[in-house]
Amino acid sequence: MTTLTKGLNQRYLAVQAKLSESVAAAGRSVGSVQLLPVSKTFGIKAIEEAIACGMECFGENYVQEACEKIDYFKSVRPDLHLTWHFIGHLQSNKTRAVAERFDWVQTVDRLKIAQRLNDQRPQDMAPLNVLIEVHISGEESKSGADPKDLPALASEIIKLPHLRLRGLMAIPELVDTEEGKMKPLLEMRKLFDDLVSKGFKLDTLSMGMSQDMVEAVKAGSTMVRVGTAIFGPRDYGGKQS
Ligand SMILES: *Cc1c(COP(=O)(O)O)cnc(C)c1O
Repeated sequence: MTTLTKGLNQRYLAVQAKLSESVAAAGRSVGSVQLLPVSKTFGIKAIEEAIACGMECFGENYVQEACEKIDYFKSVRPDLHLTWHFIGHLQSNKTRAVAERFDWVQTVDRLKIAQRLNDQRPQDMAPLNVLIEVHISGEESKSGADPKDLPALASEIIKLPHLRLRGLMAIPELVDTEEGKMKPLLEMRKLFDDLVSKGFKLDTLSMGMSQDMVEAVKAGSTMVRVGTAIFGPRDYGGKQS
């Protein structure tokens, strides 16, 4: 192992250990929470190192940057079965590139985006797994569906044959207190349970990042998206989507 891989591997192992501990502490079953490493802003080299550490799924935010990475690994390492999750804000003029490459899109927040992804998903690919991004209370960003619109939006999305609705995702504001962290996470859990009780077949509640992973697991997350704690601090270098 190179020195770079060693540091990455140590952080990855530490995050896995912290995740297992919080899953156990929450009285939840082993393996009930998936760890999604978020590789945005990190290049091909870092992802190769990550793959050497055993990572096989990656979260990406910026369409062009992500497409370059996905295309690289598809052509250079077709033996690998990597899973790519789009977790950034998706503009409608960029849906095609995403529909043609990704396995998951976690940030569907309106029907128009879902319809475009459905129409642009190549017929020979498996249905695109999607999550509805929810605008949760206290969140400053404007993206995300309004909680009251979820049942109607979900009802429309499940009609789209090239998409598979798997659940919900949220990006709560970062706050310092345990209580402040728990509030939006518990709201998300409730919204998820409400949809399930209405008959939607959902299995994924994506919430929790480096700073609120433990709380998210406590609140019922099934997928935590972790960047900094695994890859280290990001250098955006003026990067745009
Ligand atoms: C960047 C990002 C993450 C990872 O954040 P960290 O704080 O670095 O763990 C998770 N989810 C989304 C949607 C992101 O944009």
